Amino acid sequence: MGILDKIGDVSKGVSDKTKSMSEVSNLKRKILYEEERIVEIFTDIGKKYYKNPNEDPANLKLLCDDIDTRRRRIKKMRFELNGIRGYKVCPKCDAEVNERFQFCGRCGARLPEVEDDDFMSLEANDYYTESSNQFFNADSNKTL
Ligand SMILES: [Zn+2]
Repeated sequence: MGILDKIGDVSKGVSDKTKSMSEVSNLKRKILYEEERIVEIFTDIGKKYYKNPNEDPANLKLLCDDIDTRRRRIKKMRFELNGIRGYKVCPKCDAEVNERFQFCGRCGARLPEVEDDDFMSLEANDYYTESSNQFFNADSNKTL
């Protein structure tokens, strides 16, 4: 019983940290899930076209839209993830900047706010590619 009391005391002190850590792993898991789904959808598009090159493009477009939706979702979750960790990522140069800053210290670009209306829009250079580290580095950040 004494042990339980002690655990209670300790967990009070770290509860905030524990909470944000579980949020971080939650977000990472969701991001990973969306990334996997995107790869599957890309495969679906390829298969559909392979089986029937005359497929109504509207059907493929639906899948492409699905990919865009998931990419926006990933983008938002990454933003939340960085917010929990206390930094923003510059949309222009990918530099990690303290979240209190409004402009990037490296390139001077204005940093997005979560409330920005255009936040959910996709940048022209934000396309998913096999070689893009951005989409597969959810677990590569060792600063936690
Ligand atoms: Zn920058």
